[in-house]
Amino acid sequence: MLLCVGIPEQGSEKDEAVAVGVDLGISVPAVCALNNGAARAYIGGSNLLKRFAMQKKQRSRQREFIPSNSQHGRQKVDQAIFKMQDKERRFVHSFNHKISKKIIQFAKKYKAAVIRMEDLSGYDASQTILRNWSYYELQQMIEYKAKREGIRVEKLKAQYTSQACSQCGHIAKENRKTQAQFQCTNCGFESNADYNAALNIARGGVKIPKDMAQKGLEESDE
Ligand SMILES: [Zn+2]
Repeated sequence: MLLCVGIPEQGSEKDEAVAVGVDLGISVPAVCALNNGAARAYIGGSNLLKRFAMQKKQRSRQREFIPSNSQHGRQKVDQAIFKMQDKERRFVHSFNHKISKKIIQFAKKYKAAVIRMEDLSGYDASQTILRNWSYYELQQMIEYKAKREGIRVEKLKAQYTSQACSQCGHIAKENRKTQAQFQCTNCGFESNADYNAALNIARGGVKIPKDMAQKGLEESDE
């Protein structure tokens, strides 16, 4: 699913004033925002979640049926599980290709000179949020595909991007009403929570007030 709002322009030249922010999440795999707020895209849909939940169930069901006294039966089930895991890996790989392609298409459509994402390089390459769902691989794909199109990629320190209001800058845990909904306790701005985060990322990250930085306020951005 690629939902776009705004007026597309022709040509492949870049506008230095335009940046795309990408927020990677679970409910929607990737949310894109333009720094000027003129367009957004929700990429990936929720089929991914459903698919993984289903596969997990299948796996545990298969394990249940292992005859406890049968070495051969266990081997057969292990083989079946291995085959399924391999299939999942291939699915995720092609899914990441599709998502990264759509992100680049979005950036090109609005002539963005830069794509901004949160820096996940400190994470283990094998780390997954959902099983086999690798953000790390997705980021790598976005990077090389952007490079191919002459679009710069900037990685930001992930700080308060989901707690800060993209309109007034107010930072509070309470701004995040639910996993999906953002509502600023200061200015009242309401938005999809992932879009608000993507907008913060598109604008180069959250500016942390001096007094807050000094206090070393505890951060619980996911
Ligand atoms: Zn606000």
